[in-house]
Amino acid sequence: MYGLVLARHQRFPDIKTKGIASVPTLVILTSEESHYSIQKTAHWLGYGTDNVIKVKTDKNGKIIPHDLEMQIVECSRAGKIPIAVNATVGTTVLGAIDPLDDVADICKKYGIWMHVDACFGGSLIFSETHRIRLKGIERSDSIAWNAHKMLGAPLQCAIFITRHENLLQECNTTSANYLFQPDKYYDNAYDTGNKSIQCGRKVDAFKLWVMWKARGDEGFKERVDHLMDCARYFKESIDGREGFRLVLQQFESSNVCFYYIPKSMRGLEEDKEWWDRLYLVAPRMKKLMVFDGAAMIGYSPLKTMGNFWRINFGCEPQPSYKEMDTIIGLFEKYGQDLD
Ligand SMILES: *Cc1c(COP(=O)(O)O)cnc(C)c1O
Repeated sequence: MYGLVLARHQRFPDIKTKGIASVPTLVILTSEESHYSIQKTAHWLGYGTDNVIKVKTDKNGKIIPHDLEMQIVECSRAGKIPIAVNATVGTTVLGAIDPLDDVADICKKYGIWMHVDACFGGSLIFSETHRIRLKGIERSDSIAWNAHKMLGAPLQCAIFITRHENLLQECNTTSANYLFQPDKYYDNAYDTGNKSIQCGRKVDAFKLWVMWKARGDEGFKERVDHLMDCARYFKESIDGREGFRLVLQQFESSNVCFYYIPKSMRGLEEDKEWWDRLYLVAPRMKKLMVFDGAAMIGYSPLKTMGNFWRINFGCEPQPSYKEMDTIIGLFEKYGQDLD
C-alpha cells in the first residue's frame, strides 16, 4: 500500500487533493502468483481491482519479462497509465523470485515505479550464499519486507523501504501541526505519524532492533543459512522417496512443495480421475493431522496443479534435520493408508 501510494504521488501529486478521478486510469502490473495484498491495495486506494494486470509466470512461478513489457505497451495503447510494477521475492506458494534486473530494465525504459514485495524472501539478504538471488533489488523504488516471516520476529514487524527521501513525508503529511509541532525541542523527522497512515501504533520496529542487537548480522546470516540448509535436507530426503513427489526440483526460497501419494494410488495410470482423487488427499490428511494435534502444514492449489503440500520453514525456533525426519514420518503415518 505504501509503495503504490508513493508511486502515484510521485507522478501525480495532485491526486492527494483532487482525487483519482482527476487523472486517466492508472494500472498496476504484478505477476499472477503475487500476493493478494496488491488486489486489496487496488481496492483501498481506488485503482480498482480490474486495473491490476496479472502478468504471466513461467513454470517456476517467475514473472515473464516479455509478457510484462507487452502488457505495459498494451495499457499505454489503451490510454491507461502503468503506474507501478510489483516484483515478488518469494511468492507465497512456490517461493519464486522474479527476475529483478529484467523488471528494473523494463521499469527504467518506461519510467515506471518498481516496487518489490520481499515480505517473505527479503531475509535471504542476510545470507552470503543466497543473497545473489536478490540481485537487482537495489534498483527498486520501494521494498516491503517482513521480519515476522522467515526471520521469525513476533507478529507483526513489517518494514517499508524507499530510496526517495522525503516522499513519504510529502505524500502522507496532513500538516497536523497541533500534534507534530515544528518547533519541538527534537528533530521532528522522528514523528513518523507524518509519514505513515496510522496515528497510534505499537513500536513494532523495536522487535527487529532487539533481535538485531542480540544476533547481529552474523547471527541472522547463520540462521538464514541453517534454515535454507534444512529446507534443502527436507527436499533431498523426499526426492525419490516412495509416496512423495516434488512439484518443482528447484526452490529459491525456503518453500518446499510436493504431493503425497497414498499407497492405494501408487503405480496406477495418472489420468484426470487419478489427479482429481489426489487433490482430495491433502485436505483429508490435513484434517487428520490437525485433529490429532500432530502438525499444521499448509496445502495450496496453483493454476492447474491442484492441491499440493507447501511446507515453509522459518528461522525461529531453529529447525533441525531431526525435525525434518519427524515431519516426513508424519506424512507416512497419516497419508500412507488413505484410499
Ligand atoms: C505475507 C506476505 C505478504 C503480507 O504481509 P503481512 O505484512 O503479513 O500482511 C505480502 N506479500 C508476500 C509475498 C507475503 O508472503
